[in-house]
Amino acid sequence: METIRLPRVMRETSIKEKRSGRTIGFVPTMGALHEGHMSLVRAAKAENDIVVASIFVNPIQFSPREDFDRYPRALSDDLEKLEDLADFVFLPEKESMYPPDFSTRVEVVGVSESMCGRFRPGHFQGVATVVLKLFNIVQPSRAYFGQKDYQQSVIIKRLARDLDLPLEVVVCPTVREADGLAMSSRNAYLNPEERKAATALYRALHAGAKAIKEGQRDTLQLSGAMRLTLSEEPLVSQVQYISAYDAETLQELETIEKKEIVLAGAVIVGTTRLIDNLLVNDLK
Ligand code: AMP
Repeated sequence: METIRLPRVMRETSIKEKRSGRTIGFVPTMGALHEGHMSLVRAAKAENDIVVASIFVNPIQFSPREDFDRYPRALSDDLEKLEDLADFVFLPEKESMYPPDFSTRVEVVGVSESMCGRFRPGHFQGVATVVLKLFNIVQPSRAYFGQKDYQQSVIIKRLARDLDLPLEVVVCPTVREADGLAMSSRNAYLNPEERKAATALYRALHAGAKAIKEGQRDTLQLSGAMRLTLSEEPLVSQVQYISAYDAETLQELETIEKKEIVLAGAVIVGTTRLIDNLLVNDLK
């Protein structure tokens, strides 16, 4: 495994690999790697000749009030985890990604506006911008994202389609802890009581899925049922949203029809923001 810091060197390396006829599987991350990330790396390895992972805490997707400075960083552990799976780890410096006169932003309209978009203005613009940059640098054949960040995966797929990017976007299932909590680098912020309380989001989404299975078709009633589960957990200090959305357009639904839907929510536990989702056709 080789680490590369300069975008120019990463790009030249990728071009050389592709010229030799090898496919490149790419896993962009912000580090503090857990099993969720590793499942993407393993999928990339199974389906491509070469695996590139990137670790970059992207400053432009954090608002000034968010946790950029305290975002968990664990580089040496991360490199150890990647050692046997990745061929290249791309570790760009902030300065080489964003020189002082950097002035371009990529915006995927519509799908960026609902759900997390309402609470994190500018976030998905920062994500789309860095992902397009990373795609141009790494030149992947396939890029791997987690369903955990469902809205992000829809945005990246749309970006790739709209801008004719010559790659396939692959979305892999959410990896969870034994009690259902979706793995996330931010779970490290939770103290033991908050960690227990954090499962409320998954439980609420399940309560929603169960209600649909039992015939509930009214979204207001459905979000009421999900909010009830959350309200039983005192350490959930804020519910930013929890509802049913069209899985493709991400528009909030008034009624649950037969088409594919996603139940998704964002809550604050203590001071930590957690997100999760369930696709309704995932229902057992
Ligand atoms: P991050 O480091 O949080 O930016 O995440 C990097 C990639 O890992 C994104 O595509 C995430 O959706 C994905 N990811 C994060 N957590 C999980 C999880 N629990 N299961 C599957 N994928 C995940």
